[in-house]
Amino acid sequence: EPDFADRVQRVEPSATIAISNLAAELEAEGKDVVDLSVGEPDFDTPEPIKGAAKDAMDAGHVGYTSSNGIPALKDAIVEKLHDDGLSQYGTENIIVTPGGKQALYEVFQTVIDDGDEVVLLDPAWVSYEAMAKLAGGSLARVDTSAHDFDLEPALDDLAETVSDDTELLVVNSPGNPHGSVYSREALEGVRDLAVEHDFAVISDEIYKEITYDDAEPISLGTLDGMEDRTITLNGFSKAYAMTGWRLGYFAAPESIVEQAGKLHSHSVTCAVNFVQHAGVTALEAVDEEIVEMRDAFEERRDMLVDLFAEHGKDVPVPEGAFYLMLPVREDDQAWAEEAVEQAQVATVPGSPFGTPGYVRLSYAASKERLREGVERLAEADLL
Ligand code: PLP
Repeated sequence: EPDFADRVQRVEPSATIAISNLAAELEAEGKDVVDLSVGEPDFDTPEPIKGAAKDAMDAGHVGYTSSNGIPALKDAIVEKLHDDGLSQYGTENIIVTPGGKQALYEVFQTVIDDGDEVVLLDPAWVSYEAMAKLAGGSLARVDTSAHDFDLEPALDDLAETVSDDTELLVVNSPGNPHGSVYSREALEGVRDLAVEHDFAVISDEIYKEITYDDAEPISLGTLDGMEDRTITLNGFSKAYAMTGWRLGYFAAPESIVEQAGKLHSHSVTCAVNFVQHAGVTALEAVDEEIVEMRDAFEERRDMLVDLFAEHGKDVPVPEGAFYLMLPVREDDQAWAEEAVEQAQVATVPGSPFGTPGYVRLSYAASKERLREGVERLAEADLL
C-alpha cells in the first residue's frame, strides 16, 4: 500500500454513500426503495440536444478540441452570460470543462494555496468542502439555517467571519441543498464585504434556470465592484438534464483563466468534442423543454410542501433547485438510516452540508413516488 498523499486523506467520501449502500442492499433483497437522495433531474435530455450530438459525431467531431473549448460554444456561453447581465466576460474569460464540478476543482486549485481561507455558507454543497481541502485551504463557515437558509439576516455573521485573510467565498444561489434564492440586498452585502476585505467569490449558478414563483436569481458578477472578483460557474447537468454528458464551464478574469488553463490542459485536455457541439444547441435552441422541467419541479415542490404540512411538518419553502430541507430530530444521520431501513425512503443527512438536524430530499422524482415517500415516513412515525 502506498503512503497516501495527505491531500486525499483529508477528504471524506461522499455523504450519500452510507445511505445509498443501505438502499442498494434493500433493493438487492427485492424491496422497493423510494429514492429521494439523488441530485439529478429525472428527465431525459431534450431531443434536439441528443440530435446535435449525433450529428456532430457523424460529422467527425470526435478529436481533441482547443483546450478551453470550441469557439461556437464559447460564443454561445458569452451570449448567455451577457443576457444575464455579465457583460464583462468575453470568450477569453471562459474555460469549458467536463462538468461544473471540474470547473470548480480547477478554480479551487488555481486560487487556493495551503492555509488560504475559504468561507462557505451553510448548508453548503459537500464538494465545496472537499475541494477546498484538496487544495490545502482552511475552512470557515457561516450557518444560515436559523434564518430558514436566507442569507440577508446572516450577513452580520458573515461580516464577523470574513477578514483580510479570506481568499475565497462560495455563493450558490439557487442553492444545493437549501433551494434558497438570495436577494439583491443579500448579494450587495456579500459585495460590500468582498470589496472591503479584497477576496474573490465563486458564484455557482448551476441551478439558475430552476426557480419558482417570483424568485429572481441575480448573477453576483453583475453587481458594481464584483465584475473583476467574481468567478461565475455554470453547467448543463441540471437545467438541461445532461448530468451524464459532463459539460460545464466557468467565466473568470483573464489572469485566472490563464493559470487555470494550465491545470485544465494538463489534466483533462478538453471537454468531449461532440458534447460541446450539443451544448451549443442546448444554449441556442432549447428553451421550452427547460421551462417544462422547471414547471414540473415547481408542481412537485408545492405538492411536497403541502404533504408535509398535512402531517404537521412546516418546512422552509425552497425557491429554486429541486431540493428541500426537512427538519428532523437532532441526529440526522440516524434519522436517515432509520428512514431507509424502516420506511425504505432514501434521503441525505444534513450534517455533511454543515446543518445537522435536517435531511435533504430531492424532488426530482414523480409525484406518485413523492407521495409514497411521505406516506411511508409518516407511517414509520418519522415526521
Ligand atoms: N454545483 C452544485 C451546487 C451542484 O449541486 C452540482 C451537482 O450536483 C454541481 C455544481 C456540479 O454538477 P456537474 O458537475 O454535473 O456540472
